[in-house]
Amino acid sequence: MLNVPSQSFPAPSSQQRVASGGRSKVPLKQGRSLMDWIRLTKSGKDLTGLKGRLIEVTEEELKKHNKKDDCWICIRGFVYNVSPYMEYHPGGEDELMRAAGSDGTDLFDQVHRWVNYESMLKECLVGRMAVKSAVPKGMLPKSQPTNPLAKESPVSPSYDWFQTDSLVTIVIYTKQKDINLDSVIVDYQDDSFRAETIIKDYSYLIYIGLSHEIQEDFSVQVVKNVGKIEIVLKKTENTSWTCLGHPLENHNLLIPKKDTGLYYRKCQLISKEDVTHDTKLFCLMLPPSTHLQVPIGQHVYLKLTITGTEIVKPYTPVSNSLLSEFKEPVLPNNKYIYFLIKIYPAGLFTPELDHLQIGDFVSVSSPEGNFKISQFQELEDLFLLAAGTGFTPMVKILNYALTNIPTLRKVKLMFFNKTEDDIIWRSQLEKLAFKDKRFDIEFVLSAPTSEWNGKQGHISPALLSEFLKRSLDKSKVLICICGPMPFTEQGIRLLHDLNFSKDEIHSFTA
Ligand code: FAD
Ligand code: NAP
Repeated sequence: MLNVPSQSFPAPSSQQRVASGGRSKVPLKQGRSLMDWIRLTKSGKDLTGLKGRLIEVTEEELKKHNKKDDCWICIRGFVYNVSPYMEYHPGGEDELMRAAGSDGTDLFDQVHRWVNYESMLKECLVGRMAVKSAVPKGMLPKSQPTNPLAKESPVSPSYDWFQTDSLVTIVIYTKQKDINLDSVIVDYQDDSFRAETIIKDYSYLIYIGLSHEIQEDFSVQVVKNVGKIEIVLKKTENTSWTCLGHPLENHNLLIPKKDTGLYYRKCQLISKEDVTHDTKLFCLMLPPSTHLQVPIGQHVYLKLTITGTEIVKPYTPVSNSLLSEFKEPVLPNNKYIYFLIKIYPAGLFTPELDHLQIGDFVSVSSPEGNFKISQFQELEDLFLLAAGTGFTPMVKILNYALTNIPTLRKVKLMFFNKTEDDIIWRSQLEKLAFKDKRFDIEFVLSAPTSEWNGKQGHISPALLSEFLKRSLDKSKVLICICGPMPFTEQGIRLLHDLNFSKDEIHSFTA
């Protein structure tokens, strides 16, 4: 609902929508870009009409502010006057008006939960809703699991802790069998210990202000068949702890993932390497006090402060190479996250990212996304349709599929780009196709030079029907598609026309 979401990316007026194939460019209203909005918020203008005063808003009061020129919306208990923002909202005024004078949290979460509205709209803050639920306070006894959920939610995990002279071990009993090291994200920041366990579409949180200091590094182990997670913390002093600490927000709760906020940690830029004329491989290092592994097919959000406003954009981590056997990992352990990022000279976020120096910090969120590795089960044919940086989710998928799915007979990537110069990791892809006979690659260019004798054009029924041939009549197939939103939407329509079922298609979106 708010901000410049990559869901509507490319922006309506983006150069990416200037089509060679007759697709038209929709002009943005002059002076109403995100950057213009940021400038307005910094201008000192009174955007709430309350001269900086914050008030407590009752439901009756909120309901009264339901017109375009007097529009208040509540998000997670905070009320904003969004009238000044109307013309800057990329989703349009009508979409904002759907939440006028009411609680827009659900609508907001449906569209772009990840957008940092707190920062974007801080000058529009009117105040808090009058009734708010309180965060429990007090010291923590042993685990008292709480589950405020409906019947269909997973069984609530529980936790316990014990100690030796030098160590504190926190044990999470997930009661699930399919728990992996990427199911748990652990952070220790500012004396707070946070362990989030992802169980299906739910999140179970241990979030504690620790009673004593611990060292930065800790170990995380998963005992798979019993679904137990053990986190071993190192005490800084060999004293006996009488309690673990005090509970923080949502501690010991199992809640739907969609209802949790994004959690960030600061990561350091380690390297930046040119891949094409406009795309770079960025390597970020997680802090020693974080355990985080991004699951295949998921993305994270990067956050930077640009002229005083926090801006968030999604990016999909990749492996550092498609040819891991040929190339030693540049960096030794799983503390590093790699991204292939295209720099748009007129974009808001990527030029800022590109200006970062080695050693600078970027905030990285916990992973998000609905791709499930179980989609690979018994898979025989895997087809990947990627356009531009829509290639990024395909990197880990390729690496994983070719090494871990014994039933796989064929993997084909159709990679759409404007020109040859835009093809990311072309030589690696060609080497991979040479090395692994199950893998084929087809490049399609929309604006090739006259020397190009490969496929040309845009995604089309003719290209797809020729490309998507099953290896056997009834082979189990998965088609993954990612690229500019209109490309993905058109691709899905064409795949349905070719009689592929919903379960056989996975599209990557925000
Ligand atoms: P924007 O400011 O969004 O601008 C993008 C384009 O629009 C530019 O060409 C710019 O010129 C044009 N534009 C912007 N404002 C105007 C205006 N007022 N008038 C005319 N034109 C304008 N990208 C990657 O490179 N790698 C990834 O791994 C990746 N993963 C993603 C994962 C997901 C789930 C999603 C949804 C997107 C992903 N993206 C990825 C895209 C990424 O999130 C950003 O959208 C992208 O980096 C552009 O951000 P930006 O702020 O630099 O550009
Ligand atoms: P690009 O270079 O502008 O385009 C790549 C190819 O796609 C070009 O051949 C282009 O043709 C074609 N194309 C663009 N729009 C099309 C449409 N409407 N119909 C058919 N073909 C179309 O792409 P990019 O700048 O790298 O952008 C990549 C996109 O992928 C971004 O929008 C990004 O947000 C998205 N992405 C999403 C995820 C995710 O997980 N959801 C991950 C990574 C990237 P033309 O020459 O005609 O433009």
